[in-house]
Amino acid sequence: MDDKVKQNIINGNRLEKDEGEYLLNGVDLLELAPMADFVRKKHNPSNAVTYVVDTNLNYTNLCDAYCSFCAFYRTDPKDPSAYTYTVSDIMQKIQRVVPYGVRTVLMQGGLNNEIPFSYYIDMVKETIKRFPSITPHYWSAPEIIKMSEISGKTTKSVLEALFEAGQRTMPGGGSEILSNKVKKKISRFKPKNSVEQWTEIHLDAHEVGFKTTATMMYGHVETDADIIETLGHIRDVQDKAMQYDNGGGFTAFIPWSFKKDFTALSKKIANEAGPNRYLKIIAVSRIFLDNIPHIQASWFSEGKKTGQVALKFGADDFGGTLFDENVMLAAGFYNRTSKDELVQMIEDAGYTPTERLTDYTLV
Ligand code: SF4
Repeated sequence: MDDKVKQNIINGNRLEKDEGEYLLNGVDLLELAPMADFVRKKHNPSNAVTYVVDTNLNYTNLCDAYCSFCAFYRTDPKDPSAYTYTVSDIMQKIQRVVPYGVRTVLMQGGLNNEIPFSYYIDMVKETIKRFPSITPHYWSAPEIIKMSEISGKTTKSVLEALFEAGQRTMPGGGSEILSNKVKKKISRFKPKNSVEQWTEIHLDAHEVGFKTTATMMYGHVETDADIIETLGHIRDVQDKAMQYDNGGGFTAFIPWSFKKDFTALSKKIANEAGPNRYLKIIAVSRIFLDNIPHIQASWFSEGKKTGQVALKFGADDFGGTLFDENVMLAAGFYNRTSKDELVQMIEDAGYTPTERLTDYTLV
């Protein structure tokens, strides 16, 4: 590894974008691991690897965004496989997983014009009222924009109303790759066709006081420069969040690879990205994102063994149990676990499993 870059990492100096690109394409994978682990220990010196007991619900699959990488959405309400659940349906689904110790419900869905804004507010309030021990980790940035279109409120007012209803955390979905060049190819329609839409929602959410995650879906039409551009935007947004004194900001960065089956984009992609690419991205993101507290390894999207190895490449969180995942299932990808297996996987990798809440406070 280039001495200057190495010294910058050791001294905790912020890396430039060209240094990030160099780490991605000019440094051997096994050389990256100890550097990423060094940075991981600066952020989290303990041997703890956190996890959350959660489920992943979807309230509707009707959507008008037509993302070419998505196999989940339906456009015709008469399609027998299209659905929109009521608030009461979702409460029943949550009730079913309460006995498993679920503490977080991650919920996202299609961008559905027929759902009124009151539905989203009611969903948050009802969840908190009926399940006080569960955190509603609901709605990603594109859904906030859809709520704004439906209600006529500004996106900031939508976020304030959700906060007022009791919501405190938000998932970072909808970013994919934060490069307008890439978005033009994979998400041509509002509200997913510009970097600014995603970053502005997160800036506003942090200002209101939300803790959010940041995500990245790679392995399709992006270049290394696009990946570093994505990390750069996330780092910039977090710089601004750190100026607020309200606890808002990114808690973790979560990358995963594109799953191509049944998607329109699959025709352009010969092979899905494999474990080496994933481990490189985990390591480079740990090094480059100097202001993000946690990097999440995904046993789910990359496979259990790769998830475990990622803990040696800078990740310090093992994600959640994701009891009801449906989005990747729609792309022909199936993976399941239990809390016991999650704990075992972390232990087998040499770490101390530590249960956390949605906002990363420890149980
Ligand atoms: S990724 Fe989300 S916004 Fe895009 S088509 Fe699928 S459901 Fe709709």
